[in-house]
Amino acid sequence: MRYEAVIGLEVHAELLTRSKMFCSCAVVDSTSAAPNTAVCPVCAGMPGVLPVVNRQAVEYALRVALALDCEVAQTSLFARKNYFYPDLPKGYQISQYEYPLAERGRLVVDTISGERTIRIRRVHLEEDTGKLTHVNDGQPRSLVDLNRAGVPLLEIVSEPDMHSLEEVRAYATSLRSILRALGVNSGDMEKGVIRFEANVSIRPEGSAQLGTRVEIKNLNSFRAMERAIAYELERQAAILDQGKEVAQETLGWSESEGRTYSQRSKEEAHDYRYFPEPDLPPLVVDADWLERVAAEMPELPRARQQRFMNNYALAAVDARLLAEEAETAAFYEAAVAAGAAPRLAANYLLGEVFAWMNASGEPFSALRITPSSFAGLIQMLESGQVNQNTAKAVLAEMLRDGREAAEIIAASGLQQVSDADVITALVARVLEENPAEVESYLNGKETLANWFFGQVMRAAAGRANPQILRRELARQLGNLKR
Ligand SMILES: [Zn+2]
Repeated sequence: MRYEAVIGLEVHAELLTRSKMFCSCAVVDSTSAAPNTAVCPVCAGMPGVLPVVNRQAVEYALRVALALDCEVAQTSLFARKNYFYPDLPKGYQISQYEYPLAERGRLVVDTISGERTIRIRRVHLEEDTGKLTHVNDGQPRSLVDLNRAGVPLLEIVSEPDMHSLEEVRAYATSLRSILRALGVNSGDMEKGVIRFEANVSIRPEGSAQLGTRVEIKNLNSFRAMERAIAYELERQAAILDQGKEVAQETLGWSESEGRTYSQRSKEEAHDYRYFPEPDLPPLVVDADWLERVAAEMPELPRARQQRFMNNYALAAVDARLLAEEAETAAFYEAAVAAGAAPRLAANYLLGEVFAWMNASGEPFSALRITPSSFAGLIQMLESGQVNQNTAKAVLAEMLRDGREAAEIIAASGLQQVSDADVITALVARVLEENPAEVESYLNGKETLANWFFGQVMRAAAGRANPQILRRELARQLGNLKR
């Protein structure tokens, strides 16, 4: 039988605030800071302490809610989600349950088959847990680091609107780039600042009824998420094909074994004994506050992509690649403002510069070229002072040592030969030196024209202006035919 996948994602994103969600402890890099150095009685869960909401975290959450077109609640409530685990010293996590910060949003993503709208169910604030490290050096034990306990965490829950891995990938990458564009999350997945959980079920194609879903926890990379979902879709199809039923449960993902495994039967909300957090007042977001946050919103990648398509006549895919990161987009626009032809600049940035970054492993911020020096090269290319091959070679040098294009070209004598007299002489010489080929050409082997072109270009050390060369070659060959 053919099945349709039904997938929803929960995304947990740490917020880039300076201090934690409910205390003044610093948010530190949990992969490098010494354990338990950013901890106070509040985040260590001591009795009798009082939490205070981090206003910056609420603002960051509001940015995300607005970017996702959500309805923001004027009043939302914090609640206690009770469960015991060694990385949760209070015995409960402060989260939002019945009354989240924002609901009913949407994210429009691009897929090969066109635009798709993924509905957002809710966006709410909570706190992160500590981190456990399991050690087994003959004496198995677990180490507890509370640096991460109480770090502001945003949970973004989609409706189960995704039906393919491509849609999941488009949604997850687009959400990540929005979080980065808003300045609320670094997007650094290796440090665990964004984590995914996927709800996955399948149903016979054409059926309107939802199948039994499983929840896959703690997916820490796009790759793990895609592999886990793909595995789960196959596993469920095999179960249904045998006429059996999929069990509703919570699964883990083993990256090394490439399979999901059962963690526990799915817990229900009542297992957590949620109740309103008695130590925190309702969170009130008045219209003024929301308006101010809205006024300070930066341009989002999708809007920027649209603008690039309109203003610079770029193809959708090029515009998206350039618009995705604010830094790349700013470089591109500065180069265009400095006089670079928009499409030529886009081609060289996405082609040569991106390839150079891939090969060198250096990030965009480490580039040694400035927008104006890049624009200088593009202008020389456009005006015919250098040809494509020379431009690429010069750009490679610019990327290596940061010199200006004009300086490199002057130093190496790479200017394009556009002097018609020089080219005329070169063409004449090549034709004279290759009488056999000229003979074949005159006897009808017209493809030899390209070979002559190559010979002249080689004689000019690759620097002949190709248009002038082609014209002159055609003229001289034409004369020979008579
Ligand atoms: Zn603290």
